[in-house]
Amino acid sequence: MNAPDPVDIIEAAAPAARRSRQARVAWGDHVVTVGGDAPVRVQAMTNTDTVDVIGTAIQVKELAVAGSELVRITVNTPEAAEAVPHIRDQLDRMGIEVPLVGDFHYNGHRLLTDFPAMARALSKYRINPGNVGKGDKRDRQFGQMIEAAVKHDKVVRIGVNWGSLDQELLALLMDENARRARPLDARQVMYQALVQSALSSAEVAREMGLNPDHIIISCKVSGVQDLISVYRALARRCDYALHLGLTEAGMGTKGTVASATALAVLLQEGIGDTIRVSLTPQPGEARTQEVVVALEILQSLGLRTFNPSVTACPGCGRTTSTTFQELAKQIDDFLRAQMPVWKGKYPGVENLKVAVMGCIVNGPGESKHADIGISLPGTGEAPAAPVFIDGEKAMTLRGEGIATEFHKIVESYIERRFGAAAVRV
Ligand code: SF4
Repeated sequence: MNAPDPVDIIEAAAPAARRSRQARVAWGDHVVTVGGDAPVRVQAMTNTDTVDVIGTAIQVKELAVAGSELVRITVNTPEAAEAVPHIRDQLDRMGIEVPLVGDFHYNGHRLLTDFPAMARALSKYRINPGNVGKGDKRDRQFGQMIEAAVKHDKVVRIGVNWGSLDQELLALLMDENARRARPLDARQVMYQALVQSALSSAEVAREMGLNPDHIIISCKVSGVQDLISVYRALARRCDYALHLGLTEAGMGTKGTVASATALAVLLQEGIGDTIRVSLTPQPGEARTQEVVVALEILQSLGLRTFNPSVTACPGCGRTTSTTFQELAKQIDDFLRAQMPVWKGKYPGVENLKVAVMGCIVNGPGESKHADIGISLPGTGEAPAAPVFIDGEKAMTLRGEGIATEFHKIVESYIERRFGAAAVRV
C-alpha cells in the first residue's frame, strides 16, 4: 500500500477579529462595554407588562442572573414610563446592576420628553426609525429622542426591523430601482432600505450631537440568509457597534437552530457585538431560555466561557438503558444551577469540562480529554464505570449509586481545583 500524501498544516479555525467602535452602557458605577475589544454581550427582553413594577423587576433579575448583561423593557405608555424609575429602584434594592434598555415605538419622543425620570433611569434607548412618525413629523420626533439621549448622556440603538421598515424610504428605493437599466430584485432593494434606514438615521443623530460612540446599530430580519446579507453589508459600511439577532426566530428547536445558524456565521466573521435570541417561549417555558441559548452560541464558538461544559455521547445500540442520558442531564442541570454561586466561590470553574459517555468505544478516550469523565457500561459490558480525572483513571464505580457517587466526585474535584485552598498560578 502506498503511503498517504502528507497533509498540509491545518490552521485552527477562530472567529475573525471585530473592528467596531466601543460603546459604554452604564448604570451608576456598573459599565457594560459593547463593541471594540469587549466580549460579545448577551441581551434579553422582558415580556411582562412594564406597569407591573414588581413582576418586571423580578423577570429582569431572572434574565440577569441567567446571564443577560443588558435587559430591554417595553416603554409604550405614560404608565409604563412612570413605572421605569420604580423598576430601576427595585433592581437597585435587590443588588441587580444590569443596565435597562427602553424599547420605544410611535410615542417615544413624547415619553422621553414628558418623563425625565424614566429617561434618566434607562441606560440605553432603542429607537426604531420605521416607527417614529411619517413625513415632517418623522425628523422632528426622531430628533426629540436623540435630544433626550444627548441631554441624559445615553447610548442609542438605532434598531431597524424589516417588519416595520420605513415604507417611504422603501417606496423611494423601489421607484429608483424601477428606473435602472437592470433593476435589482425586490429582496436586494429591501436590504438596501434596511441598511440605508439605519445609517442615515445614525448620520442624523450625529449631526444632532450624539457621539458616534453612543450609537449601536441593528437591522433585524427573520430569514437566516437575509440576516447574513444585511449584516455583511452593514459591517462593510460602518464601524458602529452592531447588535445582532434574528427577529421573530420562532419557538423551540426551529427558533434555536435558526438563531444559532445565522449568528454563528456572522460572529465567526467578526460581525456582531451584542446578541439577542428572539425565541417565542413555549407554554410553560422560562423566559430565560433565550439567554441560555445565547450563552451556548457564544460558548460553542469559543468566544466566551460561561458554564462548565458537559460532553455526552448521543447513545446508540450499545446503550440499552437511559442511565447515561439521565446522568448527563443531572450533571448539566446541577452545574448550571450552581453557577450563580460558584462564579464567585470558585474562580475559573466555568472552564471545567465534564464527560459522560455511554460505553467503552469512545467513553475512556473522551473522558480522558475532559477534566473529569465517566464511561458508563454499555450493553454486554461489565457493570462498572471507570472515572477519569485529569486524564488518568482514578476509580471505578459500581452498583446502583453510580450517579450519586459521580456527583460527589465532581463536587469535590471543583472544591479542590477551584476552591479557596487551590493553588493559583
Ligand atoms: S460512546 Fe458508545 S454508546 Fe456512546 S455513541 Fe459511542 S458507541 Fe454508542
